[in-house]
Amino acid sequence: MNNFKLGEKRPLIISGPCSAETREQTLETCVRLAETGVVDMLRAGVWKPRTSPGSFEGVGLKGLAWMAEAKRLTGLPIGVEVATAKHVESALEFDVDCVWIGARTTVSPFAVQEVADALRGSGATVLIKNPMNPDIDLWAGAVKRFAAVGIPLENIGLIHRGFSFFGHQKYRNAPAWPLAFEMRSRFPEMMMICDPSHMAGTTEYIHELSQAAADLRYDGLIIESHICPSQALSDAKQQLIPGELERLVRSINWRREAADDPEFVKSLNTFRDQIDRIDAELFSLLSRRMKISEQIGRVKKANDVAILQSSRWGAIKERILAQAETLELGREFLGEILEAIHLESINRQNAVMNPAE
Ligand code: PEP
Ligand code: MN
Repeated sequence: MNNFKLGEKRPLIISGPCSAETREQTLETCVRLAETGVVDMLRAGVWKPRTSPGSFEGVGLKGLAWMAEAKRLTGLPIGVEVATAKHVESALEFDVDCVWIGARTTVSPFAVQEVADALRGSGATVLIKNPMNPDIDLWAGAVKRFAAVGIPLENIGLIHRGFSFFGHQKYRNAPAWPLAFEMRSRFPEMMMICDPSHMAGTTEYIHELSQAAADLRYDGLIIESHICPSQALSDAKQQLIPGELERLVRSINWRREAADDPEFVKSLNTFRDQIDRIDAELFSLLSRRMKISEQIGRVKKANDVAILQSSRWGAIKERILAQAETLELGREFLGEILEAIHLESINRQNAVMNPAE
């Protein structure tokens, strides 16, 4: 039986290759990671859910044996991804300390239930990755399935690996941080670990995402590492060599949540006071703006004019976006706010022009 306990070390740093490929690659990566002194748990995928058949689908049981060997050599706990009852059975036989549920499995309630049933009474730690699609209820549903088979909540953790969206984005999987905040507020006692590797998709963004997670008070990081990333059979572009992983982890600043220095508290309170007053002003202005939209709705109705005049909206948007630089506000941010205001404004006009029977 293992003696790994979730929550005993914060931040928890998990690292290892995306996939166990050969005995040498697995052991060398794991031993070098352990030697860095910054890694608390070793990971490797031994069964890989791949988008297309024919891609490398993992080495299976052999990989479990290599990970068990890595555990003996390094003294570090080990984690693998499981997706079926059979995987769970094998992982437990090899004394795996932690299993994680992959993003492609969390989307499937049948698969989650099968894994949960297989883990019943095992005492294993389970980390649940967010589903591929931005559906918090699906993520929360998976947590509930594990809790319902009697796995204590303190043995369950969450991994935020970002969400898949249509179209080209900066990151392979968009963080959509507010969705993870929502999940945190639903399960405040649960460890929330960030997976910047699968969010980023390439090594260049792993540092900024890791620091963002630290600033957002995440409880740990799971980062992929490979002794020779360019030769990796899966996720080649996003893996760091162990030395790079060490430098990255050491460079992350896990700032304190609060400090009790009186000068700090005083200036923080002054700024918070200002923010509260500005917010009050901001929202009362928004409320006034919406009331004017309703009046416009009444005038349009009286004159039988359609709600949307796209040229007018285009002109507003252009005028405001042109001020982005002067206001020192990002165009994307301004655009999103404008869209939200516009949508609410249309809804208000619509309610006036087409009142519910
Ligand atoms: C992985 O951790 O290697 C993996 C496949 O992750 P995800 O389920 O987040 O895609
Ligand atoms: Mn991977």
